[in-house]
This record gives sequence, C-alpha cells and structure tokens, in this order.
Amino acid sequence: MIKTDVCIIGAGPSGASTSLMLSKMKISHYIIDKSTFPRDKTCGDGLILYAYKSLLQIDKKLFKAFLKNPKFIHSKNIKLHINDNLNVNINESLDRDMVITYAKRFDFDYFLVNHLSKKYANCEFGNGLKKIKQSKEGVLIKLKDDKEILAKIVVGADGVNSIISRKLAKNTTNKSLTSTFVNAYFKDVVGLPKSNEAEIRLIYKKTPLFFYIFPLADGTVNVSLGARTDLIKKHNINLLEEVKSILKKHKKIAHKFKNATLINSWRGWSIPFDFNSKKVFGDRFLLVGDAAGLTNAFYKEGVGTGMMSGIICAKKINECLKENNFSESFLASYQKELKKEFSRLLTFSHIMAKMASSKYIFATMVKLFKNRFQQKAPNFIKRKSY
Ligand SMILES: Cc1cc2nc3c(=O)[nH]c(=O)nc-3n(C[C@H](O)[C@H](O)[C@H](O)COP(=O)(O)OP(=O)(O)OC[C@H]3O[C@@H](n4cnc5c(N)ncnc54)[C@H](O)[C@@H]3O)c2cc1C
Repeated sequence: MIKTDVCIIGAGPSGASTSLMLSKMKISHYIIDKSTFPRDKTCGDGLILYAYKSLLQIDKKLFKAFLKNPKFIHSKNIKLHINDNLNVNINESLDRDMVITYAKRFDFDYFLVNHLSKKYANCEFGNGLKKIKQSKEGVLIKLKDDKEILAKIVVGADGVNSIISRKLAKNTTNKSLTSTFVNAYFKDVVGLPKSNEAEIRLIYKKTPLFFYIFPLADGTVNVSLGARTDLIKKHNINLLEEVKSILKKHKKIAHKFKNATLINSWRGWSIPFDFNSKKVFGDRFLLVGDAAGLTNAFYKEGVGTGMMSGIICAKKINECLKENNFSESFLASYQKELKKEFSRLLTFSHIMAKMASSKYIFATMVKLFKNRFQQKAPNFIKRKSY
C-alpha cells in the first residue's frame, strides 16, 4: 500500500491547480485521474476573471506561457444580448491584454497537467477511483487496478458527479442549483466579429436559455445552450431541438451557420452552483471546483473559480500538515476562506440569474443600469483578474 500525505482525485483545472500550489509549497502528493491527458471535457472553453488570477498566483511564468500559447486566443470584447435590440458590452481597455480567452479544454487542461511538478506530484492517470473509506489512520483509496493509497487528507476535485462529495460529504444533487447544457463544435461559421468578441444571448422560452458562441484558435466555434435543470424538466424543454432551431432560424444567428458543419456530436453535461448549500469539508477531506458547486450561477465561470478554490485548498492543507490536524473542526476555516473569496460574486450571480428569469424586469433593469455597468466593469475585472 502506498502512503502519502495528500491525494487529489481529479486532474481537471481544480485538481491541477491544487497540485501546482502544493508543489509550490514543496508538498509531495498523489494526483489521480480516470482519464489520460490530453482528454476532452464538455465546456464552453471560455476563460475569464479567476482563471487569470489563479494562473498568476500559481506562477507568473505559467501565466506568461498561457499568454504565449498559440492554441489560446484572447479577446477584449464580450457582448451580452438581452434581446435582439438590447445588449451590454464589456470592452477591455487598449492597454490590457484581454477580458476573455478561448482555450479548448482538450488543450487547456493538458497545458496545466504538463506543468505539474515532476518532483512533488505523483501522477496516476488512466486509473479511476473505485472505492474510498475513512479510517483512523487516514483515507483509504482503492483504484480501478486495485492499487491502494492511504492518505492523511484527500481532495475531491472529481467534478460535478464527485464520488468524494457523495460518499464522504454525503451531498446530493439539487436540480434548482444546477444547469444543464448541450454543446458542440462547428466549422465554416461565417460573419463572426474580427475582434473575436464573445457572443452571449439570453433566449426567452418558458424559461431563459443561455446561448454562447465562442470562437477558437483552430477556426472552429464552440456553441452551448442551457438553463436551470429543474426548469428544463418542468417546462419540458428539449435543449437539442431548441439549439438546432436557433442555429437554423434565429434572425441574428442563422446566416452565420448556413454552411457550417457540425464537427462532433452534441453532448450534454451539468454545471453546479450549489456551493452555499453543500458540505465542502469534513474529517480528512476538502472539495474543490465543481465538486464544491463553485460555478457562477449567471455567467457560468467554473474553470477559474475551480482553480482559485484549488489554491485556497492547498494553503489549508499546508496548515493541516504543519499542525498534524485533519479534523473537521480544523478544516472548517476552509469554507470561510472560500466564502471570503467568492461569496459576494456568487451571491450577485444568483440575484442576476433570478432577475434574468423575467424578460421584462431584466430588460428594464439593463436599460437603467447599462451605462453605469459598462463604465464600471473594466475596473471590477481588473480587481478580480490580472
Ligand atoms: C456546456 C458547458 C459549458 C461551460 N462553459 C464554461 C466556460 O465557458 N467557462 C468556464 O469557466 N466554465 C464553463 N463551464 C464549467 C466548467 O466546465 C467546470 O466548472 C470546470 O470544468 C470545473 O473544473 P473541475 O476541475 O472542478 O472539474 P472537471 O473539469 O470536471 O474535472 C474533473 C476531473 O476528475 C476526473 N474524475 C472524475 N471522476 C473520477 C474518478 N472516479 N476517478 C478519477 N478521476 C475522476 C475527470 O476525469 C476529470 O478530469 C461549462 C460547463 C459546461 C457543461
């Protein structure tokens, strides 16, 4: 049996960031993933705010390598369309690099994994978690190939369907605090802005649907459509039919996709934003990223928030190891630290999501505050990113 201080389950952005930060603090650990890298992950592929902040906090050189990587493209413009005649523009100033970066998760997650420390990170990829059990000596982790690891503390970075969250924290899924999205890549899409502007639309059906078009470095385009999971069910919405209809008939979109080709097949996945109603720590375990429900309810940033939670988690583990204390009471401050970092923004995103549910209230509010918001946004982004 392998014995280690720390074992991270999941090497997506949250797990990889935890590992990178632990290595920065010279803490040896195991990092497990059921996939081998590069691997794909259903996502919009847009990186904003916390992704930049986290990369910088982990290592300035990593941030520079990210900026230079030809597979990632950066844009200074995001346009949120409330309806066909009303939109909000977020425009980064000339002296700054970007407000959004498009990076296929196939490439971005591989980029992070490729920077894991050869000295401190013991990678076990292509070998999923099969069983997990707490004991007095530590957490016993059994992998698919029957390898056993005994860790003093385990990090659940295994995404929205986290085994650690279900088995150790006893969390269950809350469908009113989860979104369901469908997503696909297209080629030969025309008429996209030269500035690589992010196109985000609220499309009002019985519930608002969030529609994203993000351009990618290889000339393809990432398209996503989704809404709150419980409301999709309640109103019997077929996301696949809706997105196909938007691409075929929407007067601002259809012409761009007239000769476009679907590259892969449509895929569906969930986005959790139930952080405030979830247990994210306990005896010998901490949850990060999607496993902790840390996605933004309104604009769905989950990569950056996940990475930042990994950084906070690694710092907490450093304290645990120094004090040799892995108890639930000692780990409670982890949740406080997460709240300190995210609470205001996540609460604001819940309020925005609620307001957006009424087409007329939201449009009126946007008309009233649009100018003020557009003026203030760049400063806010600067504070929360790089
Ligand atoms: C359609 C869609 C669009 C989105 N768009 C955006 C966007 O544009 N920008 C943004 O910031 N966020 C977006 N998100 C959210 C974002 O994808 C997630 O928040 C993000 O991936 C969370 O990272 P993570 O590391 O916590 O989890 P994940 O990226 O899910 O990584 C979890 C890792 O754990 C591994 N794993 C799982 N189970 C096991 C196991 N049993 N054993 C071992 N390994 C395991 C998996 O293989 C995976 O590598 C989107 C999500 C969806 C579904």
